[in-house]
Amino acid sequence: MRAADVSSDLTEVLVTEEEIRAKLDEIAAQVDADYADEDLLLVGVLKGAVMVMADFSRALTKHITMDWMAVSSYGAGTKSSGVVQIRKDLDTDILGKHVLIVEDIIDSGLTLSWLLENFAARGAASVEVFALLRKPEAAKVEVHCKYVGFDIPTEFVVGYGLDYAEKYRNLRDVAVLAPHVYS
Ligand code: 5GP
Ligand code: MG
Ligand code: MG
Repeated sequence: MRAADVSSDLTEVLVTEEEIRAKLDEIAAQVDADYADEDLLLVGVLKGAVMVMADFSRALTKHITMDWMAVSSYGAGTKSSGVVQIRKDLDTDILGKHVLIVEDIIDSGLTLSWLLENFAARGAASVEVFALLRKPEAAKVEVHCKYVGFDIPTEFVVGYGLDYAEKYRNLRDVAVLAPHVYS
């Protein structure tokens, strides 16, 4: 799928591929420094974080281990249901490990606060969060996100891993989905 094929579905590019790349390098340098003396497990939240994980993990100098979790709170719509379901659990035991959750976007923060509690209950030594994108709504909830790529407005965005009904994930930029597509 080329961007040109779906351009009428998008209203505006919010973050370009180049901006994402530069930001990932910057945050990777911070994470390299912050975890210089610890082993680090990156946990990607499927499927939206696939692109962030692929690029971010390779921007690190540090050797890390990687695991994935799939949860669902949205279904095919554009609003969080607030009910989080595990669709694929971790393969590894995180007891005593330093975990960095890699997320595509925080909106209501419901998914993340649920994940943080869940990981703490499994006895992780530490759990921090890196979210590429954050919407203003997320500031209202008690979710501590240590690393944030970009603060964006309250719009439904797609691209760079983010989908609408499984489409648009392979767009290179992050763009606003035109309301006519989902309304
Ligand atoms: P939250 O629980 O913070 O409201 O959102 C959880 C998940 O909903 C995110 O990890 C992401 O997968 C999805 N989501 C939230 N906002 C957007 C958006 O603007 N676009 C897309 N495609 N997914 C979103
Ligand atoms: Mg996500
Ligand atoms: Mg989705």
